[in-house]
Amino acid sequence: MTIDLNDLPLRDELRGMRPYGAPQLDVPVRLNTNENSYAVPDVVVDAMAKAVQDELRDLNRYPDRDAVALRTDLASYLGHGLSAANTWAANGSNEILQQLLQVFGGPGRTALGFTPAYSMHPLISVGTGTRWVDGKRAGDFSLSVEHAVAQVREHRPDVVFLCSPNNPTGTAMPMDVIEAVAAESTGMVIVDEAYAEFARPGTPSALTLLSAYPRLVVSRTMSKAFALAGARLGYLAADPAVVDAVQLVRLPYHLSALTQAAARAALACADTLLGTVEAIKEQRDRIVAELRTRGLAVADSDANFVLFGGFADSAGVWRRMLDHGVLIRDVGLPGWLRVTAGTPEETDAFLAALDRSMS
Ligand code: PMP
Repeated sequence: MTIDLNDLPLRDELRGMRPYGAPQLDVPVRLNTNENSYAVPDVVVDAMAKAVQDELRDLNRYPDRDAVALRTDLASYLGHGLSAANTWAANGSNEILQQLLQVFGGPGRTALGFTPAYSMHPLISVGTGTRWVDGKRAGDFSLSVEHAVAQVREHRPDVVFLCSPNNPTGTAMPMDVIEAVAAESTGMVIVDEAYAEFARPGTPSALTLLSAYPRLVVSRTMSKAFALAGARLGYLAADPAVVDAVQLVRLPYHLSALTQAAARAALACADTLLGTVEAIKEQRDRIVAELRTRGLAVADSDANFVLFGGFADSAGVWRRMLDHGVLIRDVGLPGWLRVTAGTPEETDAFLAALDRSMS
């Protein structure tokens, strides 16, 4: 006898949900999950391999549960006077967000985000039993101070998600909006800065607000600018009390000794690893300009991807692009598609496939 998941005694709020599922297809040009297209450079591979090798004999022991050395390195990368006590690390920033919701969300509590934003924010909320409120943006995806504050006032959420630079639009949130939400909120405010390193010049990080707002948390990742999506290393910066709070829910030894060692070795090579960021930003700006010359609507991007629209049949364009060997993302916004900025050759292939798919 076989059953499907609907025959199982699922929690009510999970019934009918779909798992996060960006397609992982084997096509020549994959520009759908905002990965860094550049392979890890050999010098960094060697450094990480040595660091991992040095851990292997001691794998009979549990890793440092508090990951103090790694957190010290992360704090020093971030700067802003932060120390290990202000940082926490986990298996990707998704796990960071989940831990935050396990502490500050949960049954009877509410999380607010401003849609469209990162699709995992509502999924992780529901997964932790937190009620999700779909906040609104203006038609051009912008969010004014007044609109944001009014929604915080209306819903009084326990957790507010701000995504800056925002996925899927790519645009960074003005600092006055972040500050106004932090000032208005009585709960936690999480600024998801997964793409911070790609921001256009003059875009400050919410790290600058941490000392003024103790319930503000900035989450970051090594998946994007550091080109380490496969290593699974996300982290947060916040008041030390927030780090203490997260310890209440983290699983003991959640971050393997191998991950900690590899991440520390990578951070020691930060300049080399981040060397691709400028090249990717160049391609990002090139994609924005090229799409605008084609008369498409294009959101300003501070990230390593571009949201573009104006299509009567975006799903059809997405499919034809795939037929031409280029995988981009249909983020579920009718008329819009999202493409990751990668190498110059990938931009060439993307533009050529798009021109063939639009006509
Ligand atoms: N936040 C945002 C806005 C993202 O786009 C992503 C990845 N797509 C993440 C967080 C999660 O990244 P990771 O778990 O790899 O750190």
